[in-house]
This record gives sequence, C-alpha cells and structure tokens, in this order.
Amino acid sequence: MRKFKLFEWVLIGFVVGILVGAVWGPGAVALKPIGTLFIRLLKMLIIPLVFSTLVLGTSKIAGTGKMGRVAGKTIVYYIITSAIAVVIGLVIANVIRPGAGMHLDLAGAEIKKVTPPSLADTLINLVPTNPIGAMAQGQVLPVIVFSLFFGYAITVAGKAGEGIRGFFEGFAEAMYKMTFWIMSFAPFGVFALMATAIGTHGLRILIPYAWLIFAVYLGIFIHMMLVYTPVLTLIGKMGLRKFYGGFKTPMVFAWSTCSSSATLPISMEAARENLGVSTSISSFVQPLGATINMDGTALYQGICALFVAQAFGIALGVGQQIMIVLTAVLASIGTAGVPGAGLIMLTMVLMQVGLPVEAIALIAGVDRILDMARTMCNVTGDATAAVWVAKTEGELVAAPAASSSK
Ligand code: ASP
Repeated sequence: MRKFKLFEWVLIGFVVGILVGAVWGPGAVALKPIGTLFIRLLKMLIIPLVFSTLVLGTSKIAGTGKMGRVAGKTIVYYIITSAIAVVIGLVIANVIRPGAGMHLDLAGAEIKKVTPPSLADTLINLVPTNPIGAMAQGQVLPVIVFSLFFGYAITVAGKAGEGIRGFFEGFAEAMYKMTFWIMSFAPFGVFALMATAIGTHGLRILIPYAWLIFAVYLGIFIHMMLVYTPVLTLIGKMGLRKFYGGFKTPMVFAWSTCSSSATLPISMEAARENLGVSTSISSFVQPLGATINMDGTALYQGICALFVAQAFGIALGVGQQIMIVLTAVLASIGTAGVPGAGLIMLTMVLMQVGLPVEAIALIAGVDRILDMARTMCNVTGDATAAVWVAKTEGELVAAPAASSSK
C-alpha cells in the first residue's frame, strides 16, 4: 500500500473530524482535550520562535544592508493588500446585501462587553516596558518590536555581536526541529478540533447566516485570485501549482486552528522548504505578517460592518464606507493571530461608524466558520508577501516542486 504523506493524513483528520462531529453532535466535546493539547503544543513554540527567528532574520538582513528596503516593502505591501481586501469586502456586501431581510433581534441576545483599545493606546503599547514581561505574557507585538531592535543592534555591534548571532542561529534551528515534531501530531489535533467545532455548533447553525458566510467566503476567494495570483505569478514568477502545492499544509492548519500565530511555525517551514524563500526573508516577513497582516480579517470586518448596517436598516454613505476601510485596516493590524480576535476588533469598526456594537453577539454564533476562512487567507497573504519580497531581493532559491510531503 502507498504510504500517505503528512498532508494527506491532515486532510483525512479534517474530513473524518467533520463527519464525527456531525454524527456525534455535542458529545464530540469529549475529543476537545486532544485539540487543546495540539493548540498548546503550537502555542508553546510561538514566543521563542518569533523571538529567535526575528532576531536572526533582522540581523541577517541588516548585515546585507537591505534592512530599510525590505522592512519598508513588507509593511507597505501589508497595508495595501489589507486595504484592497476591505474594499473587496465592501463591494461584495453592497452587491450581495447579506444582511438585508435579516431581522436581528437584540433583545434576547447575550451581549458580551468588550472594550477595544483606542488607536493611540494600540500604538504606544507596541513598545514593551519590559521585554521579558511581554514574552512571559505572550504579547507578540511588543516582542516583535524588541526583536527588531535587538536583531539590528547585533549587526551594528559588529564583531562583538557574532557570538550572540551564532547563539540565535542554534536557537532558531532547535525551534524548527520542535516544529517538525509537533507537526506529526497534527492529523489527530485537526481531527479533534473539527469534530468539536462541528459537534458543538452543528451544521444547522449555518442556514440563517448562509448569505453572510457565502459573502465572506466569496470575498476571500476573489481577494486571493485578484491579489495573490498576480503577485505570485507575475512578480514572484511562481506557478500557482507550486505555491499551493507547497503551502497546502499551513492552509489546512490555519483553517482548523483559526490561529495565524499557531500556524506560524508550519507556514515558515513550508515557505523555506517548499517555496524556496530564504531563511532571512522568511524569518522577517512571516512572523511580522502573522501579527500585523490580516487580509482575511480586514475583508471580514468590512463585510460584517455592512451586514450589521443592512440588518438594522441603517444606510451607510460613501464617507462612512471609506471610514470602514481605514478602521478595518487598523483593526486588522491590531488583531491578534488567535481564534476569534477579529470579532473583538470588529467592535472598533462598528463603533467608528456608529453601528450597534451589540450585533457582534449575533455574528458570534457563526464566527468560527468565518474565522476558518479568514485565518487561511491571513497566512496565505503572509506567504505571498514572503515570495514577493524574496523574489525582488534575489532571495528566492530553487526549491523542490509541489511534490513535497510537507
Ligand atoms: N483568527 C484570526 C487569525 O489568527 C484572527 C481573526 O480572528 O480574525 O489570523
């Protein structure tokens, strides 16, 4: 019998998980500990992986004198693609009108009180007062800021910095090894996560929100076709078969874990091993992207804002829709790469245009289904950026084609 590849096992876990969840119903919660264990294993990697790879990536890029250009390119790319994503979301929501004819009844809804941080606070909090404290609390964004400074300082330190750079090389390498081990557990983790999600929410929950789900999925598909395809094929000179063949495992992971951060170890490995992105570019572009670049989330926030407006019969003018583009881009930057974070940040967008914030309680019921697609889009966007930056910096090396098992 032919040996299955890891990716195929993950897919089997995914499909069997859905079937088990649908048949078993709420009882499938019994499998939750397996899914939780898998997520914990992945989370265990996040802070040391982000820290070690970003310090290493930054110091390597700084060593080549490309630092300013690579950082500038990456950030501009992230902002532009997120803005395009919101616009696509708005166009789709205006055409499909997923909220029209929907009668949201807020009276019985269980409303969670959430306070989104203000913009000024979001920016100021980027700088940690205590980097070790930020690491201990798992705050990725402040850790990123510290790592960027630190990696750059190692290069500026010249000869004196060489020892510590060697240390970080070993550190990052060990983190890659751990990632590889944890990946072998993935089929079980994905199986348990899917069974629990479908078991608790049931397939029936999807019906009243079918239009919203359809709009978000369609939007993400269009964004990937309209933005990622030309970036990959025209600029990155990479065939779609090669890209998706090499990146399919992280996409399924993102789908089932609903977490860009948890998928980061796997998406970095796929970009390096299967897509040929150099370690220095991957270590810089992807950890940064997993935290600040969320095209799927931005698109979802655009659609949901209009969905809420339509459901309540509130007409939004062009000015307000432009405001949605601005706030959704910022909200997506501030969204943590963990399940459900985009929903919390959606409150910021709703508040900004004067829509009832309580409506998020109603979207919450189907949010997991939307989260799967937007997280998948988020990590694909980061990998697309990595291919593009690597190509334009001459850092895209030949890699094995789509046949890889990773
Ligand atoms: N779950 C998403 C991610 O990790 C963030 C979100 O909720 O939109 O990328």
